[in-house]
Amino acid sequence: MESTENTAPISLQSKRELFFKSDTVSGGGVSASVPPSAAPPAPPSTLKDALSKRSATLPEPQETNHVEANGIATKHSNSVSVDVSKPPSTAPPPTPAPPVPISAPPAPVPTPLRSTENIMKKPEHPPVAPKPDLPKIEKPKTKELDGYVGFANLPNQVYRKAVKKGFEFTLMVVGESGLGKSTLINSLFLTEVYDKDKHPGPSLRVKKTVGVETSVVLLKENGVNLTLTIVDTPGFGDAVDNSNCWQPIIDFVESKYEEFLNAESRVARKAAPPDTRVHCCLYFIAPSGHGLKPLDVEFMQRLGDKVNIIPVIAKADTMTPEECKDFKEQIMKEIGQHKIKIYDFPESTGEEGDGADVTKSLRARVPFAVVGANTVIEQDGRRIRGRKYPWGIAEVENLEHCDFLALRNMVIRTHLQDLKDVTSSVHYENYRCRKLAGLSHDGKPHRTNSNKNPLAQMEEEKREHDLKMEKMESEMEQIFQTKVRDKRAKLKESEAELARRHEATRRALEAQARELDERQRALNAERAAWERDTGLSLDDLRRRSLEANSKETVDGKEKKDKKKKDWSFKSVATGISI
Ligand code: GDP
Repeated sequence: MESTENTAPISLQSKRELFFKSDTVSGGGVSASVPPSAAPPAPPSTLKDALSKRSATLPEPQETNHVEANGIATKHSNSVSVDVSKPPSTAPPPTPAPPVPISAPPAPVPTPLRSTENIMKKPEHPPVAPKPDLPKIEKPKTKELDGYVGFANLPNQVYRKAVKKGFEFTLMVVGESGLGKSTLINSLFLTEVYDKDKHPGPSLRVKKTVGVETSVVLLKENGVNLTLTIVDTPGFGDAVDNSNCWQPIIDFVESKYEEFLNAESRVARKAAPPDTRVHCCLYFIAPSGHGLKPLDVEFMQRLGDKVNIIPVIAKADTMTPEECKDFKEQIMKEIGQHKIKIYDFPESTGEEGDGADVTKSLRARVPFAVVGANTVIEQDGRRIRGRKYPWGIAEVENLEHCDFLALRNMVIRTHLQDLKDVTSSVHYENYRCRKLAGLSHDGKPHRTNSNKNPLAQMEEEKREHDLKMEKMESEMEQIFQTKVRDKRAKLKESEAELARRHEATRRALEAQARELDERQRALNAERAAWERDTGLSLDDLRRRSLEANSKETVDGKEKKDKKKKDWSFKSVATGISI
C-alpha cells in the first residue's frame, strides 16, 4: 500500500490549492473532477514566482483518496472519470486586492446575516427600507507597494494553522431503520465508518425507543485531519406510536449547544472550545413516491430551526427517473407548504465561472436522491461502486443515476465550512438567545409555560441561580487552588535553589579557609627552618635591623650638621649670606 504522502513531495502552495480548491463536477454528465494527488508543481522559491507559475502549472485533476480510519490506513482509488473539457477551479491567489479607482462606484450593501427565516426561501420582493442620510465615510485608498513586503503570505499562514489544528465535523443521520443510512455514510467517506461487526443489520438494531448514538472517526486525506462524528438515531420512526420520537434528538442537539455555551462561559475558558455541535442532519425520506409522511413533516418542522437539515431520498434506485423527478417536486412543494426550514445551500461559494455554475446546478438537485453501496463492481476495466441488477448497474458515483456525488460534493467539498458557520452563527445563536432570555425551546418564556405556583417557580429559579453560583464558586476555588499550588511549587523551587547556592558558597569559603591554614602552616615551617639554618630568630633580625636603621639616621644627621657648618663658614668668608 502506498501512501499519498510518499508519492511526491507536495508543496505548501499546492496543498493550499487542494485545501481551498472546490470541486468541479459537471452538472449533467457522468464526470466529476477531484483533487489532484499526482506530483504537484515543485515548491516555488518565492511567492511571486508561485503566483506567476500557478496558472501555468496546474496539475491534471485525478484522485487517489487516502483515508485513514480508526488508525487503519486504507487506500481507495476513485473510479470516477474526469471531465477534461472543464478546467479545474483553483483557489484565488493570495495577492493583495487590486487597487480601487478613486471614482469607483459605491460598494454594494452587504447582504444581512442569514437567519433561520431566510434559510428556507428568500423573499421574492424584499422590503426596501429607506436609507438614512449617514455621513459619508471615505474608503481608504489601496496603495500599490514598490516591493514585496510579505503579507501576501497571510493565506498560507492561515492554511498552515488550520491544517495543524485539524477540522471537526458532526453529521447526524435520521430516518427509519433500513433506509440505508449506514451504507450511505460508508460510501460518503469511502471507509468503514460503520463496522459490520460493531454495527449489525437494521433488524437487529431496531429499538423500542429512539436512542442517539455517536461514533467518532479520525479521517486523514492529503495531510488534512478531520475528526468526524456520526450521530445515529436508531429506533426513529420504528415504533407503532411515533409521537414525540423527535424529542430525544432535539434534546441531543440542544445538549451539545448547552455544552458549548457552558464551555464558552466558563471562568477559565479555552480559546476555542471543542465543537461537538451537530453541523448537518441528513434526513432520510423513504422512496414511497407519495410525498412526505406526517412524521417527516413533524420532524423537519421541529428541528428546522435547530440544525441544518438536508433532505435525502433514500434508495433512489427503487424509482424510475421520472418517478424520482415527480417525487422530488412533490417533496419540495410540501416543504414549502409546511414552511419547513431546510439548509439553503448558498448560491455563491466565493467561486467564479464554472465553479459557481456547478454549485447552482447541484443546488437544484435538492432533495438529493441517493443510492448507497459498499461493493465495488468491475465493468469494462472500470471499478464502480454500485448496486448490480440483472438489467444493469446503478452506479453510486454517477450523476445520471443518482445525486450521491452532488450530495457528497456539496456537503463535504464545497459547503462543509458554510454548514459549520450557519450552525454557529444562526442555530447556536438562536439557542443562546433563547437560553439567555429564559425561553424554552418552543420560544415561550419559562415562567408562563408552567402551571406552577409563582412562589414555587421563584424558589426553583433561586435554587437554579444558587446552583449556578455554587458551580462558578467551585470553579473559581479550583482556579485559586491551582494558582496557590503553582505558587507554592515555585516558592519551594526557589527555596531549594537558595539552599543549594548557600551550600555552595559555604563549601567555597571552607575550602578557602583550609587553603589559608595550609599556607600559614607552610610559612611557619619555612620560618622555623630559616631560623634553624641561620641561628637567628626573626625577632633578633628585626631588632638588629632597627638598630642599624637608627645608627644610619644618627650618622646622616651628624654629616648634615657638619656640612651646614662648612657652608656657613664659607659664606662668612665670602660675605654671602645663605
Ligand atoms: P440503516 O438501518 O438505515 O443504517 O440501513 P443500512 O445501511 O443498514 O441498509 C439497509 C439495507 O438496505 C441493506 O441491505 C443495504 O444493502 C440496503 N441499501 C442501502 N442503501 C441502499 C440503496 O441505495 N438502494 C437499495 N436498493 N438498497 C440499499
